[in-house]
Order: sequence, then structure tokens, then C-alpha cells
Amino acid sequence: MPLIVLAAVATAGILVIASSSTSPPPASLRTKEVYEAEAPEEEPGAPWLASLASFAQSIATKVVELLNQPVVSPAARSLPSSAPPLIGPAGAIHRNPIDEGSYANFDEITATHVSLDITVDFDSQTFRGSVSHSMACVKPGSTMAIFDYQGMEVYAEKTKVCKLKGYTPGDNMVTLQAKTEGCYWPVAELNTNLNPDIGSAVLVHLDAPCHTGDEFLITLEFETNDDQQAAMWLTPDQTVGKRQPYVLTQCESIYCRSFAPLQDTPAIKVTYDASVTVPKALTAMMSANSTGSVTEADTKTYYFICSIKVPSYLITIIVGDVEYRALDDVGRVGVVTEPGFMDAVAEEMSDLPKFFAAAEEYLTPYIWGTYTVAILPPSFPFGGMENPLLTFASPTLIVGDKSQVSVAIHEIGHSWFGNELGFARWEDLWIAEGFTVFVERKVPTLLAGGDMEVEKVDATVGNQSLLETMQDYGSAEGSPPEALDHPYNALVPVLDDVNPDDAFSTVCYESGYQLVKYLESVVGPTSFQAFLRKFVKANSQTAINVVDQYEAFVVETFPPEEASAKLATIDWNRWLYQPGMPPAELNNFTTKSGNLAIELADEFIALEGLSLPKEWESYNSWMSALRQMFLDRLNLKKDEVTRAILAKIDKAYGLTAALDPEVKSRWYPFSMKIGYEGSCAETASCGEGAAPGTCIINEAHLFASSVGRGKYIRPIYQALMDTGNEELAAAWLAENENFYHPITLIPLQRIVALE
Ligand SMILES: [Zn+2]
Repeated sequence: MPLIVLAAVATAGILVIASSSTSPPPASLRTKEVYEAEAPEEEPGAPWLASLASFAQSIATKVVELLNQPVVSPAARSLPSSAPPLIGPAGAIHRNPIDEGSYANFDEITATHVSLDITVDFDSQTFRGSVSHSMACVKPGSTMAIFDYQGMEVYAEKTKVCKLKGYTPGDNMVTLQAKTEGCYWPVAELNTNLNPDIGSAVLVHLDAPCHTGDEFLITLEFETNDDQQAAMWLTPDQTVGKRQPYVLTQCESIYCRSFAPLQDTPAIKVTYDASVTVPKALTAMMSANSTGSVTEADTKTYYFICSIKVPSYLITIIVGDVEYRALDDVGRVGVVTEPGFMDAVAEEMSDLPKFFAAAEEYLTPYIWGTYTVAILPPSFPFGGMENPLLTFASPTLIVGDKSQVSVAIHEIGHSWFGNELGFARWEDLWIAEGFTVFVERKVPTLLAGGDMEVEKVDATVGNQSLLETMQDYGSAEGSPPEALDHPYNALVPVLDDVNPDDAFSTVCYESGYQLVKYLESVVGPTSFQAFLRKFVKANSQTAINVVDQYEAFVVETFPPEEASAKLATIDWNRWLYQPGMPPAELNNFTTKSGNLAIELADEFIALEGLSLPKEWESYNSWMSALRQMFLDRLNLKKDEVTRAILAKIDKAYGLTAALDPEVKSRWYPFSMKIGYEGSCAETASCGEGAAPGTCIINEAHLFASSVGRGKYIRPIYQALMDTGNEELAAAWLAENENFYHPITLIPLQRIVALE
């Protein structure tokens, strides 16, 4: 309900504290991946600044130009409804004040339902077809509807507007068409000279100002092109089966406008249905329920409907040689992947129903019906993406030892936070991520009967990652280095004129988690669980304001004096808007096992590879996060680490042959930097016939050629460059050029070329 969204924003009651700093974030941070997403790196240094300056100048010029233009094309006002289509000059247009990541005027005329009718063409690597928007007039007198688009041709002259006699839930494109009348071809303007970080806009002029309650069906035709940013078109080489092509879309944050022209904003939520025509040998799936398919000579058309309202960034599709397998007896939780990968996936994900049930028991009944995780081809460059009904996950989760299932628990948590209730603007992404990390870490605690060991260790590793991120961003201009007050170090960052992904980092996850954990500590775990349940139920399928609702809950739950005392402990301004590490210390998250991991690393160093520490065997029973802590500690003290020490560690734990990708992505580069060549005894690639001293290199090569997740392989290429193996780095990159997705490939090309 958009009106609720507006009310929530209007009553936020908190002012954003804007920083005066204009320094750009360091390039390294734009590659930060914590749980899910990664963004390609920008050029660092002077060229980046120069292009920023010229970009700022061009925007300033554009603003002056736009201010001198009429608000609405005069042609639109006088155009009779039967007139032929006209493409007028672009009218003045601005980013929406509620969500500055969008040009759409959803606060005037808002989409309620989206109907897609598309053909997936692997030869041209395009989506083409139409999108019909069921729209409602929410600001009387509005005369146009504005949609975002990017990386596509929008055929403005084919735009069509009809009056709609009442959208009702469950409608699809067929039933909606039957409810239309008074159709006409309006003036539709394409405005492509806008902020390239945000994209372009299509302005559809109505034949008369609208009245509150008026409904329309607005249909736009389009075809995507090579500039699109949503779809990943994979060649057969980039799949497990290597026989069929594959395509998937990644819409978060503002890329769904590359899939279809949309009001592409988290501030509104829509239901959607789709008709998708694909080559007959392939299967299509969406973040929606399937409603059937029709097979023709060479093609197959799949039909979908998502009857629960979602923000556009959760609309997604995969098309490939994929199949489904249920993981429980009732077919509620299941996995999707390529047939050749299914057994391994089903085994690794076999605990998913248990995690799912624990999250649901702690929170509220799951509203989406079924829960499905799609394990994608190996070149998928991300960790995971929480598309409802079709969560995406990296194949690096399929380790063989279930060490990476926390990513799957995280995505389950999004079913409530982010997907069921959400945020209105990208600055508030922490509402999705902070609460979801809280659930991700709560589930293991619940399953362990209240033992917080896993939660505490994960929180400690997360806190270290948060500190490193903030150190990378640094401080605002004029502040001392330890201030860490760069604007992007705030939980709610200031996003002026930038793609929201520029500020995307671990901050919204870990500072967000710590705020939610702090809120739990203020009222106690039992009351906080009650709050979460009430919070989700009251705000289902809307965007929300956390502060007001938490405060209202405390006031109605506790006696007045106690409530006041509790609320007085929360410095919302500091938590939300002040950059820097969270105001509450999390020292209570240190654990015995965490301390042991650090002590063990220190002992290995102290013993100089001559003997084993007394407690050395404990490593073998550790969860992945503790192993990461152990390796991170060694890296922190790398000046004291020798080849003999690494040889001792490798002999003890067989790290060169480790399965856990978090271990591999640390161990191989670290060994290269120390000059340790590996122990060949237990590794597949380094047995008989291998050249002496090539074990680590060979294993790293195998890993980097089988995994496309940039987070894991960037450190390996960087280590090659840092250790005089430039030719090897270039050779591996050339070998894998078709295997890596561009999101992974481009930063690697920079690493190899820059040195
Ligand atoms: Zn997430």
C-alpha cells in the first residue's frame, strides 16, 4: 500500500545528519562481499576523480537545462485520445524524493501489478516483449506515469493506455485485458539524458488529469540490448552440464529496469504475472508460482504468478537445463539445479527444512507457500540472492562438509525481513540485512538449545570484517584516521547522485545486526521475539519504519517509567546516522573457542614449526568461522610466519587439500606470499608426476578454474601478481575468460593489468 509507505516515511521523525565530506570511497570497498553481492571495481586514483568531476559538471549542466524546460510537454495537454503517437521533447524530470534511486513518480501514479510477456532469445541474448502495468492514481491531477529503464530499446510509439475497471488480487494479463476500456496511444517520451548511474525514464502522458481511485493499464514494448545490467547470459561452457546455455537475472539493487521498464523502487510493492517463451529444451523458473506451460514446435511458454506483493528488485528469472527436487516429504522445501549437480546439492542442503522450520517457529507463519533454493552454475559471481520462491545461491555453498550453509540460513531469513516487509529507499537497506543477519545467527542458537557459541563466533568474525571495511573507507576529510567517519560508514549512508551499490558494504549487515542485537538486549529475548512477530504481522507486504514501531512496542509493553528508561538508552541518531563503529561494544561475544582459535595460531608461530601445540587437534572439529579466525590471525602476524610453520600446519590439517572455500581462498594466497609450496601427499593435483614445489600453485589453479565467485579468487590472482607470477596470472585469466562472469572478470583484468 503506497499510502502506508508515504505515511511511514513522513513520520520517521529523524533527521539525516549529512556529512560535509565529498571524498569518494576507496575502490577496494566496492568489491566487498560479505554474504551475497559483489560489485565490480571502479578505476582507482586520479582517473576516477577526473571522471567524477566531469560527470558532476555534466549533471550540473543538465540540471540547468532541465530547469529551463516545461514541466510537461505542451503537446501532451492538447493531444486528443485518438491522435497518432508523438514523441515529444523530454519534460522536466527528477529523481523521486522518497527513493532517489528512481525517476518513477509512484507517489502520483503508482503500479499495483505488473504483467510480463517476454521471449527469451539466446541467439541475440535479449529479452523482448511487453510489460503491462496496472496503475492507480494516488495524487489527483497527475497527468503522466513515469517508469525507469536502462539497457533496452523502449518502443515509445507502441505505448498503450487503457482505463482499467478494478484490479483484484489474482488477476493476470488475460483477466486484466478483459477489464479494459477506452484504450488510446498516448505521447510517450524517452528521456535518456539523465544520471547514467540511475538510468533513463519513459514518461507516459495521460489524456486527462487523473482522479483519486482511477485505474489504468499501461503497456510498454521493449527489447533489451548489450548495455543491460540485469541478465547474466551464460554460454554452455559456463554451466555444469556444458550442453545448454543459461540465463539468470540479478535485479538488486536497481537493475530490474534492465529487465523491463518499471517503477523500479523498493518504496512500492507489486504482484506480478508472466508469460515466458524459451527454447523447448530449456526450463524457465521465476520468483513466482508456476501456473503451467504450453509446448510448441521449437519453443515452450511458461506461465507464472506472484500473488504476494514484492518490490521490483525481487523479480527474477532463470532459464536453463535445470530440475527440481524436494528436500522434505511434503514438498515444501526444495532445491533447483542442473541435473548433473543435483545429488551433491540435495545432500549438502539436506538440513534446509530444519533451518526453515526453526526460523518459522521463532518468527511468524511463512507466507510464501514453498521455499526453493536454486544452486546456480559455477560462474555465478555472487554468494546468494533472496528472490522469494526462488532463492539464488552460489555453488560454492556445495562444499561437501556443510560448512557454508549459513548463507542458506541467511537467505531463509530474508523471507521475513526484506521480502515480506521491507524498506522504502536504498539508504535503509539495513532493515533487510540487519534483521536477516540477526535471524541467520539466531537459528543456530535455537537449534543448539540456546547455546550461543555459533552466533558469538560468527558475530566476532563479522565485527572484525566490519572494522576492516570501515578502515578501508577511512575518515571524512579533516578527521583523524581513527575517526572512521566516512559517510559510507554510517548505517544509513547518504546516497546523493550515486548508484546505491556504491555504498554497499558489510556495514548494513554487521552494524545493522549489532543494532538489532542491542534492541533485543534492551527489552530481553522473550519480549523481542514478541516484538518481531508483531512487527512482521503488522507490516506484511509493506515498507516500514523501525524506530516508531519499536518505541511504540516498548511503551505498550512496559510500565511508563521502565519504558522511558529503556528508550533513553537508545541513541538512535548515533546508531543510524553517525558514521563509525557501533556505539555499543560487543565484548560479550568473545568465546572460549574463539580465543582458542587465536591462541592456537599464536602457539604455532611461537613454536616455529618445530613441534605441534598441545591443543592442535581441536582445529579438526571447528566450524568454518573458527578456521577463518585462525587463518586471519596468522595473516595478521604474517611477518612472524615462516615456511616451516606453514608446513607444520599443513601437515597437521591438510589445508592444501581443504574443501572449505573460505579456507582455500585464504590458504593459497597466504602460502604463496610466505613462499610455502605445499605438501603434495594428500592433494589430487600434486601426486606422482607433478613438478616439485608446485603444489599450492596447482591447487590454486584448480580452484580458480572451477569457481567464479570473485570474493574467493581475487585474492589468488592478487597473490600471483605480488609474488612475481604475472605470466601465470595472465595465462590463467586467458584460460578462464569464458568461464568467469564479467562481474568477476573485469576486476581480475584490472588486477593483472595494473601491476
Ligand atoms: Zn542478505
